[in-house]
Amino acid sequence: MSLTEIQSATNAAAVTAGRNPADITLLAVSKLQPMDRLRAVLDAGHRVFGENYVQESAAKWPDLRASYENCHVHMIGPLQTNKVKLALDLFDAIHSVDRQSLAEKLARAVQDRGNCPQLFVQVNTGYEVQKAGILPDALDTFLAVCAAMDLPISGLMCIPPDGENAAPHFAGLAEMAARNGLRCLSMGMSSDFATAIAHGATHIRVGSAIFGARTNPKIS
Ligand SMILES: *Cc1c(COP(=O)(O)O)cnc(C)c1O
Repeated sequence: MSLTEIQSATNAAAVTAGRNPADITLLAVSKLQPMDRLRAVLDAGHRVFGENYVQESAAKWPDLRASYENCHVHMIGPLQTNKVKLALDLFDAIHSVDRQSLAEKLARAVQDRGNCPQLFVQVNTGYEVQKAGILPDALDTFLAVCAAMDLPISGLMCIPPDGENAAPHFAGLAEMAARNGLRCLSMGMSSDFATAIAHGATHIRVGSAIFGARTNPKIS
């Protein structure tokens, strides 16, 4: 597939779901992709990207932002607390607020800066031991803790378990967001973004279907 095909598929899925395509943001996930592929997508006019690694992003995005106006770069991978300051310099949104120590660090840092990126709490909808994220049972309490620290959360994010039907995970995340009055839902990747849109996704994260296979799939 390609960028235009994914854009058409996104719009079609929105229309099928009775939704406005303008309410869905397509993040082109550019982690571990060769620069020529990334530049091709920028040259085609796309401006919203997802990245997983602070170091990799620091090496490429400051230069790209200087060459292409209005880029929006979203952090979608795990964030170490010692990289919070750097992450706030690099990213317009963080989709992986997944533990209290990170929320605390973010709360202090955004107070110092006086501005805050758009934040999503990552939910471990599959209760997977190896996966990051707040467990569904603990979410409402975690959101209350964020609110008490004046840390503004705009939505929820999930990565459903590999090889499982994603639909119940998307439906569950939508229900958790609605219950907590959160507007944004970051869900859906290359293989299941249409399903995610049917369940209310506002941000879909599509990598390989736009760019092709990653150059180093091992660390993806
Ligand atoms: C890599 C990644 C994606 C993109 O995955 P594809 O299958 O290439 O579309 C989406 N979300 C997260 C959290 C990722 O780490």
